[in-house]
Order: sequence, then structure tokens, then C-alpha cells
Amino acid sequence: HRKLSTESHQCRRVIAERNATVNAFVYTAEAVPTTNTAAPALPLSGRPIAIKDNICTKDMPTTCSSNMLKEFKPPYDATVVRLLRIAGADIIGKTNCDEFGMGSMNIHSVHGPVINPCHSTRSSPNSPRSAGGSSGGSAAAVGAGMCNAALATDTGGSTRLPASYCGVVGLKPSYGLISRWGVVSFADSLDCVGVMAANVADTRRVFDVLNVHDQKDPTASSPESRQEASKMNTARRRKWDIATGSRPSLNGLRIGIPQEYFPLELSPTILQPIRRTIASLRSLGATIVPVSLPSTSYALSAYYVLASAEASSNMARYDGVQYGLHVRPPPGADLTKTSDLYARSRSAGFGPEVQKRILLGTYALTADAFDNYFLQAQRVRQLVKDDFDRIFHLPDVTHVPASNVREDGVDILVHPSAIRTAPALSEQSGLDAYVQDVLTVPASLAGLPALSVPVPKALRVEETEEDDWPVGVSVVGQWGCDETVLRVGEVIE
Ligand code: GLN
Repeated sequence: HRKLSTESHQCRRVIAERNATVNAFVYTAEAVPTTNTAAPALPLSGRPIAIKDNICTKDMPTTCSSNMLKEFKPPYDATVVRLLRIAGADIIGKTNCDEFGMGSMNIHSVHGPVINPCHSTRSSPNSPRSAGGSSGGSAAAVGAGMCNAALATDTGGSTRLPASYCGVVGLKPSYGLISRWGVVSFADSLDCVGVMAANVADTRRVFDVLNVHDQKDPTASSPESRQEASKMNTARRRKWDIATGSRPSLNGLRIGIPQEYFPLELSPTILQPIRRTIASLRSLGATIVPVSLPSTSYALSAYYVLASAEASSNMARYDGVQYGLHVRPPPGADLTKTSDLYARSRSAGFGPEVQKRILLGTYALTADAFDNYFLQAQRVRQLVKDDFDRIFHLPDVTHVPASNVREDGVDILVHPSAIRTAPALSEQSGLDAYVQDVLTVPASLAGLPALSVPVPKALRVEETEEDDWPVGVSVVGQWGCDETVLRVGEVIE
């Protein structure tokens, strides 16, 4: 009595209809029945879930959207995939992304760009828009109704930015909560597995399944830190928890609005919806507190130095000999010249964005540049972290005792997820793509939980407004406050 859930059928139909245009999936799994109707319901029974193509799956390719891994079929599942299967999920396929997660528009992909599935009834001409990156395929798949939820990754914003552009929910959990075993590394000190879904409840359901300690992941946070954070959080939430009933109450919740997250580059179409969202949170009883995180403006540069440095080291394993695309030297070539073999394989295997990061990252790590670039960036990272620790009520229990609370601190921060709505694919140019991450990288550098939720339509679109594309609002909390962040997201959506 095994049968495919109705939702799985429905999603496969949408994929068949729309994927040729959206290009969200790069591989679709055969319909393997996952729902045993006789068995007790599992948390994700019958739910079709898509996996970003930089997360290993044993029965499907894992290309990282790179020529380098085009033929790679891992012999194992990443821990996160294994947990989803145990929970009853139907792993429906692999989603397009920027090569090895490097990018913000999902245009650096050997599979071609992802097209944002949202439609605008107002903004003129219908030039295709970016789904955001690097997890553009996962966001577009959720946005188009091709899956119930999708796994993404987030190193500097790759879950939150595409979620914001495609009008879906995207959670980057606290660093170290979700296992990275079997997730292809980009920058290990920043990489997190993210979750996307159409609403907060579906996002939480997947997060709860994945939120377990994994011994195989050496960077996993300790079971003690987890427990401590969750205890501290539950106690704090009693002070403001959303009352049941038709109208939620946020009495006692302190929300910080960081002034640096409203830069000059912020488009006016973002500002109004965010203001209305903040006003509605205030009307539910929350206390709105203006706060300052002065190191924010240095975060983006520090991120690109650190992420590239770590990437250059991670990419070294793709040498065309032990791993990755192997380009045969021409007949008669001197095979003792291994450098020639490396260069051929790596030049053909890596796209231009990945090559750029390898060069920049390697430079930042050279003896000449190390002090001025890598070390400085590490210092900025610490300043960014200190900024957050200064304004949150609860401490980061991974390095200070739980008793270190700040009475006047805030519970969460609310700010725009991106400085604009989805850019047209034709708009891609130079530095612009890097600037998109300016509001998402600080939480990555500090390892904090951050959720992007679409601003509800009623707060977003005014009769006179031209741009009716989705706008994301971010909720950021102290390390381990993932549940609090989800609860506030639920009130906003
Ligand atoms: N856009 C950022 C980058 O290119 C972030 C990518 C990510 O989070 N994977 O590095």
C-alpha cells in the first residue's frame, strides 16, 4: 500500500510544465513512492523536497553547477538528506545554483541561469528577472510550486537573498546547528545549510527534522551549547510569547532596528513595505528600539576576503587527478609536468567566477598580503560579532555563560533582506552583484540565525506603486535563537 502523495504528483506536474522556462531543477528523481499509508505518519511523510545541487545525494548527480563535477555521483547521502529520507520526505530532485555557491544571481551555472518564477502585473516590460543566488534554483522551485520545501546553503546570504527575490521564506540557521557532512564546502567557517518553503510552518517542520547534532561534522556546535541556548530561549519567550487567539500579542518583545541596514542604496520600493511591517509589529505590542551596528559597513569587504581565502583552499582538492574533471593532455605531452595537467583540468573545470575567487583568495593568504587582508578581515569579523553581542539581550552561549544577559538588550533585529527587488537578468554588471549581499553577510560572519520572510502583499503594494515584486524582511536573532526568529517570522507573514 505504498503510493505517492498527492502533493508529490502535483509538484511533478508543475515541474513538467514550468521547469523548461524556470530552469530551477537540474535533475528530477524518478517517482519513488515514499508514503507508506499503513505506517504511522512521519514528520515529512509525502512531502516533496528539493535539494540544492551542492549537497550530496547517493542516487542522483551532485554537480555544484560546475563543469568540474559534471559527472559526479556521490556514493552517499549528506546527513541532511539522510535525515529527510528517514522523516519520510520524497527527495524530488536537485536544484540549480551558482557554481559552488559563488554568486548572488544564479547566473554562474553550467546549467544556465534560473528565471524568477514570479510575475508582475505592473512593472513593464517582461524581461526575465533573476531568482537570486546562489540558491536560486531552490527559491524558484518553492516559488513556482514545484516542491513543498527545498534545502539551500547560505555562506553570505545565498538562502535569504533568493528567498527575498522569489517571495518565499528562507532560513539560515545558527552556524553549527545543522550538519554540513556531505555538503560541498565553499567557506567552512561560514557555510550553513538553509531551508526554504512557502511559509514559516513548512520551513520549521524541515528545520526541526535537521536540527540534531551530527558527530560526523567536526564544526557542529556542542550538544551543551544547543541545550543551553534552547533553555535560555524558552525562558525568555515566556515574557512575550504570542498569545493564542485571533490576534497575536508581542507585548514585551524588544525589536531592534539597525540604522546601518537602511543605506543610501536601499530602493524606495523596499523602504515603505519594511516601514509598514515594523509599524504592524509595534501595533501588536512589540517595543521598537533603534540600534546601531557600526561595523556593518566593513562586513562586505571582510566577507569577500575570508570567503575567497577559504574557497581557494577548498577548491584545491579538484586537481583533475584524484578528484573532478580530468582533461587528457594532448598526445605526446610530457606527463611528468603535472602542473600542466592541473592547469588544463582546472581551467576547463572552473568557470570565471570560481577562478576569480581562487586567485583573490590565494593572494589574500600569501605571506605578502596575509597581514593586510586576511588578518584585517578576521579582525573586522570579530568587530561585527561584538556589535551584535552588544545589542542582544541574550548572550552567545557558544562563548559566554548564559547568565550574561543585557537588561536593555533587544530580542531580535528586523531589517530589509535586500536593497532592492529581483534585478533583471540583463542588468548583471560588475560590482552590483556583490553589493546585493550587503545586508545578509553580517549575520553570516557572526554565525547568527536569520530568516527572510516575504512582506505580505497588503503591506507591500500601494495602488500607485510601480514595482510589485516580492520584498523580503529579515529577522535576526542571537546564536541559538532560531525558534524565536521563526515565531516572529510567523507573525509577520
Ligand atoms: N553571494 C555571496 C558570494 O558570492 C554569498 C554566496 C553564498 O551565500 N553561498 O559569496
